[in-house]
Amino acid sequence: MRDNRATYWRRWMTGTPGAPRPPLVAPPRRPSRPDRHFTVHLGFVAADLVAAREVAVGYAEALSVLRPELMIGASALSPADAWQRAERLFCGAVGPDSERCVDVAGHPGFHHGPGPGALGWGDGDRG
Ligand SMILES: [Zn+2]
Repeated sequence: MRDNRATYWRRWMTGTPGAPRPPLVAPPRRPSRPDRHFTVHLGFVAADLVAAREVAVGYAEALSVLRPELMIGASALSPADAWQRAERLFCGAVGPDSERCVDVAGHPGFHHGPGPGALGWGDGDRG
């Protein structure tokens, strides 16, 4: 509070004649914090880890189409009772223009950036 005198309060509460009314809520003094990262956990049933990985990649890709703000490279899969054993679903290798590979983790061949016709990089078929 800048000023606690009666004159200030009367002017603040009623406003000056002809001026717009004072705001009911004062603006925050501190700047808002930058957005933070969060994780959502989705449960489903699959026969084994390979099948679960396939389903999880499908969920992540489908959600990334519906919600572009989703960071698909941060997607991970874990058994329902062992979140500490989460494994990445996508490669995430960093390309020459700082883009990240969106192929599945452990994929053969070149890395690929997001979108059709995106840049490919890496060692290709040597591996
Ligand atoms: Zn890759």
